Amino acid sequence: MRCSAEGCPMDWDIESSRLCSKHHWASDTRDWPEITRVLKEKLADSAIARDRRESEPKKPYPSFEERKRILAKAMTALSAPRDMKGWAKRLKARHKSGDRLTPFQTEAYKKALGEPL
Ligand SMILES: [Zn+2]
Repeated sequence: MRCSAEGCPMDWDIESSRLCSKHHWASDTRDWPEITRVLKEKLADSAIARDRRESEPKKPYPSFEERKRILAKAMTALSAPRDMKGWAKRLKARHKSGDRLTPFQTEAYKKALGEPL
């Protein structure tokens, strides 16, 4: 059953008002036409996306050689030494360049890098 807001493409999901949740929870009924417009747009976008997906040719399943190559590449990436504190260094660099970090972020990177708080 359709939402009772004019032109709304959604089914209602709030029994008391017979509105979709977007219209039901809008703070002002004057916002309804805009909400309807956005809902229609989203629906159209997802229909377009679905059409595109369906019209794309399916990729053939990779050959045995291709699968072996992909797996070898993944194994190499997994066994490479990793910088476990990369995230902390990146946060520190952001902090030094003037980015605003939360106190929690600042404390976390300093602790990880063994710097005084
Ligand atoms: Zn609605």
